[in-house]
Amino acid sequence: MIDGAGRKINYLRLSVTDLCNLRCQYCMPEAGVKKFGHGETLRFNEILRIVETLSQMGIDKVRITGGEPLVKKGIISLIETINKMDGIKELVMTTNGQRLEEMAESLKDAGICRINVSLDSLNPEKYASITRGGDLEKVLRGIRKAKEVGMTPIKLNVVLIGDFNDDEIVDFVELTRNDDMEVRFIELMPVGEVASWSERNFMTGESVLEEVPELEAIEKEDRSSPADYYRLPHGKGKVGIIRPITCKFCSACNRIRLTSDGKLRYCLHSNHELDLKVVMDDHGDIMKAVEEYISLKPAEHHLEHHQYVTRSMFGIGG
Ligand code: SAM
Ligand code: SF4
Repeated sequence: MIDGAGRKINYLRLSVTDLCNLRCQYCMPEAGVKKFGHGETLRFNEILRIVETLSQMGIDKVRITGGEPLVKKGIISLIETINKMDGIKELVMTTNGQRLEEMAESLKDAGICRINVSLDSLNPEKYASITRGGDLEKVLRGIRKAKEVGMTPIKLNVVLIGDFNDDEIVDFVELTRNDDMEVRFIELMPVGEVASWSERNFMTGESVLEEVPELEAIEKEDRSSPADYYRLPHGKGKVGIIRPITCKFCSACNRIRLTSDGKLRYCLHSNHELDLKVVMDDHGDIMKAVEEYISLKPAEHHLEHHQYVTRSMFGIGG
């Protein structure tokens, strides 16, 4: 699948639910989100039909995300079915890790080869506060279990938040010294809950390099990765910096997103969606509709501070 700007699209981020067992302050309102009504979310057979069609069109990597994918009923059997599809070569997941310890083995058996775990603080109280109730110990046990079953290397997603975890950058980087994990710092994006946050909460990816000047730049293994990579001298793991605000990676973008209510999105930072539920309800041709939509994928995004994207990250899948 080639988009209008000539990029090869082969990566689908599949959000299987809007719901979550945490309420991260930058992502979800404290009261949670309204459950979609019956018929509003995609049924499993609809998800599978779309993913199968996309795989025939050239999607070979799928990331399962949400909301929190591990609260979705039937997630293991959904993964098993996607894993059996001919075109799918890589099946990965992003999770908050709260249920990872108990599910790691089944996830691995079902076909998940690697996971990204979101973790914004290594301090139990701060973690509980940013997630509004999360249990850091559970995440750490989940990570250990995921390693044990071989879903490696583990990638930790750390959202950089000024006045919150700027004092933990060194601790996070240190995790990569003797362990082959990847710690990826992500600039906070001004979507959803964050649209009204103060300027001082926004930190640039550069601040990681200022804080840990001994980090050495290393070459990217995957050109389409949004992260730039670094390593501590003789460090076993890697440090990634993802700069959606201060640096664009649009020219190498290879991804599309499917929301749990059936909207295909060609860019995280655009509100333009294709409603595949409507296409299916009208007995339309999914492949043709997707082809037309993908040809319109913009060459680059124009995300500036406090620009409003109407869907929040839990709805888009990050
Ligand atoms: N619940 C899962 C989790 O937290 O890993 C998967 C979904 S979550 C929406 C995916 C990623 O988006 C997480 O790493 C989260 O930290 C990130 N995220 C959410 N809101 C964000 C924002 N405003 N700016 C940057 N990253 C954000
Ligand atoms: Fe849930 Fe992930 Fe959003 Fe946190 S970032 S509220 S864990 S969906």
